[in-house]
Amino acid sequence: VTGAVDLHCHAAGIGAGGSGCFISAKMRRSLRFRPFLRAFGVTVQELQEEGDGLLIRRLGELLARSARVSAAVVLALDCAVGSDGKADPEATVFAVPNRFVAAEVRKHSGLLFGASVNPLRRDALERLERAADDGAVLMKWLPSIQFIDPADPALIPFYRRMAEIGLPLLVHTGDEHSFPGRPRNDLADPLRLRLPLETGVTVIAAHAAGCGRTGGVPNMERLLLLCPSFPNLYVEISSLTQLNRHGSLPRLLRRFDVRDRLVYGSDMPLINTPLVSPLSFPLRLGLRRALRLSSIENPWDRDVALKEALGVPEEALTRGWSLLRLPNVTASAATAEF
Ligand SMILES: [Zn+2]
Repeated sequence: VTGAVDLHCHAAGIGAGGSGCFISAKMRRSLRFRPFLRAFGVTVQELQEEGDGLLIRRLGELLARSARVSAAVVLALDCAVGSDGKADPEATVFAVPNRFVAAEVRKHSGLLFGASVNPLRRDALERLERAADDGAVLMKWLPSIQFIDPADPALIPFYRRMAEIGLPLLVHTGDEHSFPGRPRNDLADPLRLRLPLETGVTVIAAHAAGCGRTGGVPNMERLLLLCPSFPNLYVEISSLTQLNRHGSLPRLLRRFDVRDRLVYGSDMPLINTPLVSPLSFPLRLGLRRALRLSSIENPWDRDVALKEALGVPEEALTRGWSLLRLPNVTASAATAEF
């Protein structure tokens, strides 16, 4: 496999066409909602007319036009779960079901299925099996809004099964600001990841814990503390070029000891909004180079070019391939032989 692989591409939907996607009334009223959809290349009206699958199709079309990124993991997002082990719609701000993502990404080459199963569900292990059967290449958690404590010993059976089937965990680390309501940022402390790491799960720390502090220590430092003890820990670099996180990518790249852990993620569609722009790095890039980079039309190509210009090593762009569970690739390669 050649070309960069993006481990962090979002999906969304309004529930149109029976997708099962869910957005809370509060989030729908939020000023960020329409620009968020626009960054995917869709409007509410288009989704109502054609169904939420249109959004995944637009992702596939954009990716097909990227010269640098050949695959992207499209992420489902499971609900928050109540004490009865069932989805809690009251506590959920945003949800994208596995079956929707699994079915839609299959229609577009280059799009991969990133599953999300809240491990607090009563039937979490069954859902994990189903996601794997449906071709999941990784498992995604956003603990601060799914209210998952990665350090909870009750999760050990779930972690064991993930390790057995080779499904890596992409987990949001650092503070979260994109959702309305009260995120539990304490759950995004990287040191809570010791348990899955010790259980043998490959853990990919999304956003390199680039935001916030725990116990007075920057979360990124807490994450990097774990690297020497756990060769199964990887550091994913999405969103570090956002306007509000400016210093975090240069800070991470100064740490030569973790260069071989870096993996590429884009946080699409946020790279397709004014939140991320080469023009916010005039001093590092020089104005002329910043202008040239910002004129690159494809959001994935622009993102890769910006990150390379800021010093992200080339190997980080393709390293993700070695972490994903790729049953489909093996299956199609096998078919091709006969
Ligand atoms: Zn994200």
